Amino acid sequence: MGLEGFLRDIIGSLGDDIIIADIDKYSRDWWPLAMLLDKLNAWTAKPPVVLAPRSASEVSYIVRKAGEYSLCIIPHGGGSSVTGASAPRDDCIILTLSRMNKILDFNIDDLTVTVEAGVILSELEDWLNSRGYTIRHVPQSFHLASIGGCIATLCSGQYSTGYGSIEDITVNLEVVLPSGDIIWTRSITAPRSSMGPDLKYLFIGSEGAYGIVTKAILRVLPIPRYRVEASFEVPSFERGLSIIRELITRGLTPALARLSDDIESTIRFGREKPVLLILYESNYLDILDVLWGKAMEIIEANSGEYIGEELYKKWLSSRFNYEDDIRLIDSMDLWFETLDVAATWSKLPQVYRNIRKALDEVREKPIVMTHASHFYITGATLYYTILYRKDPELYWNIVEAFLKAALESGATLSHHHGVGLLRRKWLKVDPGQSTVILNSIKKALDPKNILNSNIIT
Ligand SMILES: Cc1cc2nc3c(=O)[nH]c(=O)nc-3n(C[C@H](O)[C@H](O)[C@H](O)COP(=O)(O)OP(=O)(O)OC[C@H]3O[C@@H](n4cnc5c(N)ncnc54)[C@H](O)[C@@H]3O)c2cc1C
Repeated sequence: MGLEGFLRDIIGSLGDDIIIADIDKYSRDWWPLAMLLDKLNAWTAKPPVVLAPRSASEVSYIVRKAGEYSLCIIPHGGGSSVTGASAPRDDCIILTLSRMNKILDFNIDDLTVTVEAGVILSELEDWLNSRGYTIRHVPQSFHLASIGGCIATLCSGQYSTGYGSIEDITVNLEVVLPSGDIIWTRSITAPRSSMGPDLKYLFIGSEGAYGIVTKAILRVLPIPRYRVEASFEVPSFERGLSIIRELITRGLTPALARLSDDIESTIRFGREKPVLLILYESNYLDILDVLWGKAMEIIEANSGEYIGEELYKKWLSSRFNYEDDIRLIDSMDLWFETLDVAATWSKLPQVYRNIRKALDEVREKPIVMTHASHFYITGATLYYTILYRKDPELYWNIVEAFLKAALESGATLSHHHGVGLLRRKWLKVDPGQSTVILNSIKKALDPKNILNSNIIT
């Protein structure tokens, strides 16, 4: 028997405490549909076994043995995926990185920190903050998500506009391949290298299909000393977008910007007009004054009205209150989904309008709030919180209408949540033709289909 023989070998070599007894925690991730089905007693998935290795060599041993016994593995970090990517399926073993959570090296000269992949973001950030440093990578799942999971899903945090997303923070990776080989994506850690393609990008966003990330070298920064936090009302969502575009193109990129549409502003802030939150940071007060002064000129020239720090602070202090939000939604007999798309500047207004229109036409019109919170020289993301009656069929009507409208308007179907079970059938249109390459790489690296199949490949 495959699993029995496999476990006999694993326990014989790694000890029986390699097995996690309490597997309930691994029966689903934070995909809202899985949570809803669970609530309706209709989510039955359970992993056959959960293994918690302590080192890359134990991960390697488990992967090799899985290959020998023709078993499949789903790598698991914090289990905070919102797409079903880390949910159990196909009788695959769950391999959790939760015991591999050490901070291994902090190199102040090089401004790097080396960590095991299972370290939780907030634990790493607290450790760095107590030494005056930061990676400034704070997704809303800060207290849930692991570094390895973030890397595997192309995660993006609240300060991405100023400090970049996980791909900008990741310098080098140690990975266990489906063969069991342990490799670094670069044998020499350097700030940049042109010795062939940078293969860290093969694993960033791979959702566990090409290898298990076991260590990461990340860049760190000293915590900036000064900051200005501000809130504005702007005449319209579209106008707010063009204000941020102007700030960025004039070299005034904020550390953080967050623009809520009128519906989100009404519900979250009690304001009828769209609210724009802005953060500037610097190590020098005079530089901050200049940045802030110039930004104010641009925002006010575009009819933005300064309304103080209060709403920024309100958002800041409540930004991790998602469990309260879910309880409130549940108490209203509603459920939720959050969907994130991205587009270039010229397309954003039509993406915004068309998605709203498509959702208005769903058979039971959902409540839809939108914000933009990750900005680039070339465009931005739009993030939707959608509330609807607790009905799985209605859920899929909404998701299908949303993704179809996004695609037809020229947006990519996810900015940072990733593919998972939620979006896998859409891969053939986004990224489209290049799925041929994704599939070929999978075949070459993982001919036995050991690692997290049927998501990105
Ligand atoms: C309340 C909430 C808020 C969120 N906010 C944000 C946000 O602001 N920004 C954002 O980007 N995301 C956000 N997310 C989504 C989620 O946190 C991210 O996708 C996160 O990157 C997942 O990390 P994890 O460790 O929990 O991964 P998991 O859920 O454990 O795994 C996710 C995927 O990565 C794979 N994987 C995990 N670890 C490894 C590894 N070491 N090697 C290879 N593959 C691995 C898994 O197999 C799976 O495919 C949010 C989620 C929640 C629940």
